[in-house]
Amino acid sequence: MKKYIAALDEGTTSTRAIIFDREQNILGISQKEFTQIFPKPGYVEHDAEEIFKAQRQVLHEAVEAAGIKAEEIAGIGITNQRETTVVWDKNTGKPVYNAIVWQCRRTADFCEEIKSRGLEDTIREKTGLKIDAYFSASKIRWILDNVEGAREKAERGDLIFGTVDTWLVWKLTGGKVHVTDYTNASRTMLFNIRELKWDDELLEIFNIPKAMLPEARSCSEVYGSYNMNGVEVPISGMAGDQQASLFGQACFERGQAKNTYGTGCFLLMNMGEECRIADGGLLTTIGIGLNDKVNYAMEGSVFIGGAVIQWLRDGLRILKNSGESGKIASSLDDNGGVYFVPAFTGLGAPYWDMYARGAILGLTRGTTQEHIVRAAVESMGFQTMELLNSIEEESGIRVDTMRVDGGASKDSFLMQFQADISRIGILRSAVSETTALGAAYLAGLAVGVWSGLDEIAAMHKAGTEFRPHMDEEKAKKLGAEWKTAVSRVLTR
Ligand code: ADP
Repeated sequence: MKKYIAALDEGTTSTRAIIFDREQNILGISQKEFTQIFPKPGYVEHDAEEIFKAQRQVLHEAVEAAGIKAEEIAGIGITNQRETTVVWDKNTGKPVYNAIVWQCRRTADFCEEIKSRGLEDTIREKTGLKIDAYFSASKIRWILDNVEGAREKAERGDLIFGTVDTWLVWKLTGGKVHVTDYTNASRTMLFNIRELKWDDELLEIFNIPKAMLPEARSCSEVYGSYNMNGVEVPISGMAGDQQASLFGQACFERGQAKNTYGTGCFLLMNMGEECRIADGGLLTTIGIGLNDKVNYAMEGSVFIGGAVIQWLRDGLRILKNSGESGKIASSLDDNGGVYFVPAFTGLGAPYWDMYARGAILGLTRGTTQEHIVRAAVESMGFQTMELLNSIEEESGIRVDTMRVDGGASKDSFLMQFQADISRIGILRSAVSETTALGAAYLAGLAVGVWSGLDEIAAMHKAGTEFRPHMDEEKAKKLGAEWKTAVSRVLTR
């Protein structure tokens, strides 16, 4: 009886494999970090071969840790860092260049040039995205223009492109299958999210041969199989990391939203079948594609979420570990008027100010280390509050309870603070690995481990809920003071 699902969670700094059973219990887990390559300031690369080898290794280790056999695995689900771009030779299977990571800013000038050509509205209408170096299109173009011989090879049809999902499936199937799913496709800036196909006009703008692109498919179907110890295991689910987390949180209905407090914060709301192009610093993207239908999502992101806590630990060195931050923050009665705007790499939604930099404001003689820690923790809450306000405004949908996950969601002080200032319920997932769980759901649905969304929603494990306690006037005052603090760092 095939009863287990293997989820591959390929992140930005490490890759993981997790074995789930039908009841969503984690039976085995393995994780491996891989090399971050910084060739120049603002450039970020990964070695795609290293990612594949690490991914394959952790899959085998997780299966071993779970004490199961390959023949007991019903399906493999993949979730991945989005936008990161790999271009390889389909004859040799070798990448022609390192993977260019989503964080990499090398194509920022080219993106500015496209904006100056007045293409912003066209691109936004078709893709739901803002023109930015973050997305794959300009990265593919960079490889074709800067790697010797690449453009000629691509024109001849020898080079193919993939985001990391595509690369992993291609490698796991021994070069037989070149596919992506709708969620990952929607982050390339080449995919028409209404028509669900690669867009000729966009391909022309970025000068990319269409033959390089993978086939875009739904998020839950059998794409191919991985030969594991002589057993063909179906690869049957795929979604980008934030979409997988939305799915893993069982946000299947329009209006349901989740926020992940990881390195950055990502808030996504399921918009159902409505493809409304968002404004106000938000993106519209494909939330999930099942049975030839897609659900759209509105997405807001901030760059520095839990990373502010890492900075207190590694930069300022006033914390021994991230886990201390909540305890220190809750040792004070209030923030003492101190606000920390962690615009270390600019500000994301709703401001999109790439040139803003961080600041700690409201310092007095009475300010202590504890106040700075508290202000840092609160900054995650305030930034999420602003994401939520923007998404509610743009979508016209009011959120009653937001589901949350990610490393910093372990901090109960922060979760209570979020409920207080956003005046909503915060539901912390019982399974901390929601991204991997989402990939597992997708893979399991395709091979009959679960009968459908109703069965999954019914067995989805609720976690801890936080409700607002703080006086509403006080919450408003804090929100207003935060906005004043942000206004001090904006450059325009
Ligand atoms: P990612 O998937 O982006 O690598 P994670 O979801 O693993 O991130 O979360 C890691 C982040 O969460 C780190 O930036 C870390 O500082 C922060 N973090 C982890 N534990 C806590 C905690 N108990 N309190 C506050 N922040 C935390």
